[in-house]
Amino acid sequence: MSRSEQLFERAVTCIPGGVNSPVRAFRSVGLNPKFISRADGAYIYDVDGNRYTDYVGSWGPMILGHNNQEVREAVIRAAENGLSFGAATEAEVEMAELICSLVPSIEMVRMVNSGTEAVMSAIRAARGYTGRDKIIKFEGCYHGHSDALLVKAGSGVMTAGVPDSAGVTAGCTKDTLSAVFNDLESVENLFRENDGKIAALIIEPVAANMGVIEPEEGFLQKLRELCTDNGTVLIFDEVITGFRLQTDGAQGYYGIRPDLTTFGKIIGGGMPVGAYGGKREIMECVSPVGNVYQAGTLSGNPMAMAAGLAELRILRDNPSIYGHINSLGDLLRRSLRDLFEKYGKNYQVTGTGSLCCVFFTGTRVTGYGTAKTSDTEEFSRYFRYMIEHGIYLAPSQFEAVFLSNAHTKEDIAEMLNVVEGYLKEAAT
Ligand code: PLP
Repeated sequence: MSRSEQLFERAVTCIPGGVNSPVRAFRSVGLNPKFISRADGAYIYDVDGNRYTDYVGSWGPMILGHNNQEVREAVIRAAENGLSFGAATEAEVEMAELICSLVPSIEMVRMVNSGTEAVMSAIRAARGYTGRDKIIKFEGCYHGHSDALLVKAGSGVMTAGVPDSAGVTAGCTKDTLSAVFNDLESVENLFRENDGKIAALIIEPVAANMGVIEPEEGFLQKLRELCTDNGTVLIFDEVITGFRLQTDGAQGYYGIRPDLTTFGKIIGGGMPVGAYGGKREIMECVSPVGNVYQAGTLSGNPMAMAAGLAELRILRDNPSIYGHINSLGDLLRRSLRDLFEKYGKNYQVTGTGSLCCVFFTGTRVTGYGTAKTSDTEEFSRYFRYMIEHGIYLAPSQFEAVFLSNAHTKEDIAEMLNVVEGYLKEAAT
C-alpha cells in the first residue's frame, strides 16, 4: 500500500472524508487523494516521491509557481517578529495602499481570512448601504460556502432561493435570487420582478467554478448598467481572476468598474486571506465607521500580509509575468483544440489568460446548463490517465487549469503529449 493510501486510511477515521475541503477527496474521479509533501516551481511531490507537473496551483494563489523564494523569505522574516498581534500593523496599511493603487475601483479595502468571508462581508456591506435585502447571483458561480450563497437553483426553480446544502435553512437563502450566466434577460426579469429590492448583484466576471466560462461580449457592461439604473451594488467576485488576468483583474481586462470587489487566493501568496473593497461611501458603512459589523481575530495577520505583499509587488514590478502566463494559456488552448480536431473530438476548450478548461461535449458552453452537458465519466478517465502520467489536474470537471509563471513551453509540450497519449488510448 502506498504511503498516500496509508495516510488516507488514517485520515478518514478522524477527518470527514479524509480531507479539509471536499474536492480534495478525488471522489468525483473515483480515486483516493495523493498526499502532498512539498512543491517547488511548477511541480508538486507526493509522500511516495512521485513528481507531478501541477496545474492546480493551490487553486489559484501560486501564480508565481510554488515555493517562490521572495515570498517564502518575506514570510520567514515576518515570523521572526511574532505570528499575530491582534493589533494594527504597518504591513496592513501597505497592503491596503497597494491594492488601492493597483485596482482603480478600490478606494478602501478590508482584509479578511478567506474568499468566503470576503463575499459574505461584501454582501453585508451592500445590504447595509442600500437598506435592501435581496441579492442576485448566477447559477454555477461559486462564492464560498456561506449560507446565503449556497444556492444555484436548478432549471425548474430558477429564481427561487433553494439551498444546495443540508444545514442551510430556507430562511437563509430566501433573499438569494439566481440568474443565468450570459443570459441578460434572466437578469432583467429578476430586476423587474423585484423592483427596488435588490441590494447587490454578484458575479464571477469570468466564471471559473463551473469549468471556465467567459462572459459574452457586452454582458458585464449590461450588468453594470442594470445595477446603476436600479441602485444595486455591483460586486465582482475576483477571488480567482483578481491579479491573475492582469494586476487590475477581470475588471481591468473587460473595462468595467464594479462598486465592490472581493479577493482571496493570490493576494495571500498561499497564506489564508481574503479582502473586500470598493467605493468609499459603501466601505464607510463598515464598522467601526459605520453600522455594518464585520471583524476577525486574525484578519490582516502579519504572515498573510508579508506573503501577499511580496507576491503582489512581484506581479506589479514584472508585467512580463502576465505576458508569459497568458501566452502559455493561448498556446495551451490552441494546441488542445488542434489535438482534439486531429482525433475527431468535438470537445470545448475554454478559458482566457492563464485559465483553461476542457469540456467533454460538442455543445458550446456558455453557462451552467451547457457546462453540465460535459461527459463527466470521460473527464474521470482523462483525469486518471493524466495523473498516472505525471500531470496533476484539479480532480473535477468543473474547475480550472491554472498556469503559473513557473510553467514553461516544455511543460505545455509535455502535457500535450500526455493528452495525445490519452486520445490514442481512447481511440483503441
Ligand atoms: N469566490 C470564488 C470565485 C472562489 O473561487 C472561491 C473559492 O474557490 C471563493 C469565493 C471562496 O474562497 P475560499 O475558499 O478562500 O473561502
